[in-house]
Amino acid sequence: MARYQPLEPARIDWRGHTPHSGRYGDIYFSRDDAVAETRHVFLQGNELPRRWRERDRFCIGETGFGTGLNLLCTLEAWLADAPATARLEYISVEKHPLSRADLARALAAWPQFTPLADALLAHYPPLVHGLHRRELLDGRVGLTLLFGDAEVMLADLEGRHIDAWYLDGFAPRRNPDMWTEGLFRHIARLSRAGASCATFTAAGAVRRGLQQAGFEMATRPGFGRKRDMLSGQLITSPDAPSPQPWFRYPDIKVSQRRAVIIGAGLAGCTTAHALAERGWRITLIERHAQPAQEASGNLAGVVMPRLTADMSAAGRFYLSAFLHTSHWLNQLKQRDPDLPWFQSGVLQLCDERQCQRMQALGLPSEVLEICDRENASERCGVATKQGGLFFPGGGWLEPPALCRWLLQDQADHIECILNQSALSLERADGQWRIHGEHGEIAGAETLIIANGYDAERLLGTDIFRLQKVRGQIAYLPATETSRNLKTPVCYDGYVIPAHQGLHCTGATYDLNDASPTVNEESQQQLLTNLRKALPVFKGTAVDGGRVAFRTSTQDHLPLIGPVPDERVYHDHYAELHHGRPARRYRPADYWPDLFLNVGHGSRGLSSCPLASAIIAHTLDQSVPAAGMDIINATHPARFLIRRLKHTPSQA
Ligand code: SAM
Repeated sequence: MARYQPLEPARIDWRGHTPHSGRYGDIYFSRDDAVAETRHVFLQGNELPRRWRERDRFCIGETGFGTGLNLLCTLEAWLADAPATARLEYISVEKHPLSRADLARALAAWPQFTPLADALLAHYPPLVHGLHRRELLDGRVGLTLLFGDAEVMLADLEGRHIDAWYLDGFAPRRNPDMWTEGLFRHIARLSRAGASCATFTAAGAVRRGLQQAGFEMATRPGFGRKRDMLSGQLITSPDAPSPQPWFRYPDIKVSQRRAVIIGAGLAGCTTAHALAERGWRITLIERHAQPAQEASGNLAGVVMPRLTADMSAAGRFYLSAFLHTSHWLNQLKQRDPDLPWFQSGVLQLCDERQCQRMQALGLPSEVLEICDRENASERCGVATKQGGLFFPGGGWLEPPALCRWLLQDQADHIECILNQSALSLERADGQWRIHGEHGEIAGAETLIIANGYDAERLLGTDIFRLQKVRGQIAYLPATETSRNLKTPVCYDGYVIPAHQGLHCTGATYDLNDASPTVNEESQQQLLTNLRKALPVFKGTAVDGGRVAFRTSTQDHLPLIGPVPDERVYHDHYAELHHGRPARRYRPADYWPDLFLNVGHGSRGLSSCPLASAIIAHTLDQSVPAAGMDIINATHPARFLIRRLKHTPSQA
């Protein structure tokens, strides 16, 4: 499991224009002719470009991203002859990423790559442990950067995706943990049949290690002063038993790239958009007359992470999801400056002890700044009673406007069927058929259920443990002074800068309350909490509000992924409570082509885009949008598995 670790950035000693690693005492690339060396060792060593010419999709894996020079050389060669419809995936792992400034300085040595270097710099993620997914060059290239230790991060990936490997750690003598048997096993496990590998080193231990992992290795002439190098081809694909077979995603074999999605809230609209962008045709069914009328219907919502000091599964998920969402929104806004997304930063008020605990997470200042009271007030534009955490990448937006924008953006690929309730499902002749009050509403091979609380009724099960949580928000007409609020502020509630003359403050969390109407007592409570946190609101009054029911889960993580076949799970995993080794169990069985994206609670604005990317990448058989840690933590079968682990099957 890829546990969160604070990242230690690269320590670069500059020798003229050449970066040198202070930590490893080695060079990032040859001083003689680094570009020619990359072409010789990694491209020719993997028989590129010849091999990618034969393919519509090609995937490269790299150990040691460093300055990104190998990526840029690869992109240059790929762009020179790739057909317009071809896609390149590049997955690279890096334990000590360069800062953006060092990266820019290193890449400035190659003016011929300036446009590509600029594209990389514009997408370079903050230095945060985990998987960062980027789409480069108008979506023709997918870049997956895994920031963390190579063996740990590759262990967290699933699927045989990689066609060619660039093994580019520092020299084995100086950097032994980039050349371990464990790492070679993961390299083989993640390789497609017949994958190749190449490396600058000719060390015997590396050759033997790769042979043991299943590669046939050859020694070839090295570059420049290096006599030899190694290249190889995978000849035996290793068995790759899953550490948790009950969470293993199904092999996807879609024939139609058509899907029905039920529910046009944030989960449904982001999923529809993510799939439509990949060329899928979507039918979106919604029971209301407009999208985003329920939990996603508030006037404004906050995009921010939900950090936990221990970086629990929820902390890891919400940090990844937040980083993904804020980058995604910025990309959309570049395409359309009118997109109503305001990256103002978000302030979370908290005491000093809490601030110190969060500081220990070692997040870079572009993700988290610790503020004293004065700084906090300056950041948000009004006086605060305490300091707190400031997230510069956070912000706020109008969720219904985002949903409408997403559907409009892909209008050619998304058909909306409004005012229709999906009442029952049927699988016949390889198609899902969705029935409503007056018969069949729509059908397609693939179905994604994104209708919140109603998912359990529709699927006739209670294994998801969905909870309906009432949330009330209050609107406050802005005053002259309250308009100074520049950022959302969170305390034991939140308030958002004035939008259309109103501040939005919320939200209550009422577990056992089904009342659909705004109640006065909650309005007063929301106002009292707000005034306690931000005295500028002393002069404001409440004017209206809204109640919505969000769908939450017992562990506050959403349910994302394939829908388990409950009966088969009971059969296969009935013995789980005996604690037999995982490899004795067979991989999970699911309902065919059926996926779930629900349970985002009050955090859907931050979590839905990553959830949708996870589903879209899975259906598209692309490189995963998240590691197994996150896939398993949000898996729809997790409550069922927890139950089976503790008690014998009741089925
Ligand atoms: N491919 C790079 C380029 O094009 O600039 C050069 C890579 S450099 C030779 C080796 C890289 O491996 C360094 O960036 C180093 O930080 C990284 N590295 C070293 N140990 C690592 C580990 N255990 N896991 C992941 N990356 C590691």
